[in-house]
Amino acid sequence: MRKVSTRVSRGKVSSKSRADEKSSKGPNAQTSILKPRSSGSRTVAAKLAKLGIRREFDLVLHLPLRYEDETHVTPIANAPPGLPVQVEGTVRSTEIVYRPRRQLVSRIEDSTGELVLRFFNFYGSQAKALEPGASVRAFGEVRAGFFGGEMIHPRFRVLHGATPLPTALTPIYPTTAGLGQAALRRLIEGALAHAQLDDTLPEEVSKRLGLCGFLEAIDTLHHPRPGADEEALSGRTLPAWRRMKFDELLAQQLSMRKHYREREARRAPVLEAPVEKPRRLTFALIGRLPFQLTRAQQRTWGEIEHDLAQPHPMHRLLQGDVGSGKTVVAALAVLRAIENGLQAAVMAPTEILAEQHFRKFSEWLGPLGLEIAWFTGNQAKKERDSARAAIASGRATVAIGTHALFQEHVEFRSLGLAVVDEQHRFGVAQRLALRTKGEEPHQLMMSATPIPRTLSMSYYADLDVSVIDELPPGRRPVVTKLVADSRRPEVVRRIREACGAGGQAYWVCPLIEESEQLQLQTALDTHATLSREFPELRVGLIHGRLRPDEKAQTMAAFLAGTIQLLVGTTVIEVGVDVPNASLMVIEHAERFGLAQLHQLRGRVGRGATQSVCVLLYQNPLGEAARKRLRVIFENADGFVIAREDLRMRGPGEYLGARQSGAPLLRFADLTEDADLIESARTEAEVLLAGHPGPAERHLERWLGGRADFLNA
Ligand code: ADP
Ligand code: MG
Repeated sequence: MRKVSTRVSRGKVSSKSRADEKSSKGPNAQTSILKPRSSGSRTVAAKLAKLGIRREFDLVLHLPLRYEDETHVTPIANAPPGLPVQVEGTVRSTEIVYRPRRQLVSRIEDSTGELVLRFFNFYGSQAKALEPGASVRAFGEVRAGFFGGEMIHPRFRVLHGATPLPTALTPIYPTTAGLGQAALRRLIEGALAHAQLDDTLPEEVSKRLGLCGFLEAIDTLHHPRPGADEEALSGRTLPAWRRMKFDELLAQQLSMRKHYREREARRAPVLEAPVEKPRRLTFALIGRLPFQLTRAQQRTWGEIEHDLAQPHPMHRLLQGDVGSGKTVVAALAVLRAIENGLQAAVMAPTEILAEQHFRKFSEWLGPLGLEIAWFTGNQAKKERDSARAAIASGRATVAIGTHALFQEHVEFRSLGLAVVDEQHRFGVAQRLALRTKGEEPHQLMMSATPIPRTLSMSYYADLDVSVIDELPPGRRPVVTKLVADSRRPEVVRRIREACGAGGQAYWVCPLIEESEQLQLQTALDTHATLSREFPELRVGLIHGRLRPDEKAQTMAAFLAGTIQLLVGTTVIEVGVDVPNASLMVIEHAERFGLAQLHQLRGRVGRGATQSVCVLLYQNPLGEAARKRLRVIFENADGFVIAREDLRMRGPGEYLGARQSGAPLLRFADLTEDADLIESARTEAEVLLAGHPGPAERHLERWLGGRADFLNA
């Protein structure tokens, strides 16, 4: 493509005098950033890479974090504490002191007062530049020090002769150690001068959404105009920001929707309901269930049923709060594959959960005369080989297990569907040996992590999503109690009562993130203490270090009711289903995350009796912990809790970058820019359908070499 005349002129840049543009005195300015092919350029590249900058255009898209107002000077005596200000004064003294640690202390003075500039990292040249009598301009926050006001690590420059103040706000870029603002700004200006800054949005799109041009946006954000509104710039509410946020969201949508469309071009077996009644296993199962499917289960099954009958692979996420009944919907999908003469695989992230699925599926599918093969990491070779043979021959129609299922290269005779419960999101079906005549299996993913709508629109745009938004009838909401650790005896009494009346209880040991060893020890100690405390009860223990068969035995005993109190670590968090357990105690609840607490609490309230979840906490509570406990105390709805969790933690932590697979957003905000996400979704479709060229260019510009993230 031809270079476009729409460039940011260099003139505009240099006409503004930046307070620290020429300040060669900062520690960072010493790095030989601009010397090409010097050893410095490699380190600069490494530093830029840390900022996610790999190509020239990444510099163009490296937008300021905030802006500082260096357009005027505040008299030292008027400098408000704790707010960024610019002062100007004459150096009275400068010395390097060594107590309590090596530091440079410079005293400056103007007609109104004195101020200390303090540096803990500095170069000799800086100490020299700050010689007594020098005139200096410094920018930073003033705070009260031992000897009056002081600025720690201010940005400063020594003035030589008349130095006019800048007329516009100074952009401050996100940066990393050893790469100063001045150097980074020079690199960015260089990129702005070289790069093609043409607009990738067709005019009809920017018109429809009322967005400003790309060039205008970039120029406004890198080069604020004199008098620009600092709040709107730093607060990212200007139209220019809106444009950049949209572009970012559009790139995300384009890449995910592209994957979505590419899938439509691939082939998968068409799975339809058999015409002959006797072959309708799905009907048989529904008829045998001791309950009626909820409306939400029927609807989501309908959506899945429709997808399975398409000639391209389904990638559908089945979402539903804990206890909403996802498993039976998955079982129906499995039966649909079998009705069509194909096999299905069901995978779970933990041994306990896989075992539970195996039990549930055996209970449902066994009476229909179907054989299920079972795979785990800790199987004897003989057992594994026979399961493998059953799958390869097609005698077993379903394989259930942990990730061992795809690690062991199990070969299916004809795999039609892969069901993945919790967590494992990508590429599972691809990693299973596929023997289905150039066709790939359908995929059903299940998750109990409720994903707020904006988040799922943003990060799951490559999937179809079904939501079970209704719990089976008769469930009574769990009563949550917040109890200070000092009232532990009351809790002990409560357990005695519940178990005495034929109930069962969980006791969740404190989470100790720093040390698995300590975590294990705590579980052992707690088990010993509670065993002593409840001599009349059978107290079981479950933790991550047990052998799988030990875990399975313990779980089976708890399910059968021979164990009344189950002490455990968070291994009981995921999916465990024991309806008779109606009491849960979570020790040191303040250490757990919101999602974890919600999952744990979801282990009770599955039967007919009123369930109680006791959150034991230790005072004093930190601010964040107090907030979390309040949210979990006040809310039962997983989606509300998820929204709060997202608000408190941000999407990166919420999803886990690896899990989401999608590029995380730098500029757009999922809560504030929900409307832009919707528009980006719509316009991505418009572009892909009608403007493939601009769509590609837009993707290249924003994601460059990273467009392939979904295959990671
Ligand atoms: P989750 O969505 O958390 O995986 P499960 O599939 O484990 O939930 O279902 C939780 C419990 O509810 C199971 O015991 C299951 O048999 C039962 N269940 C599922 N659907 C219904 C329904 N429609 N009516 C009553 N009970 C149901
Ligand atoms: Mg489940």
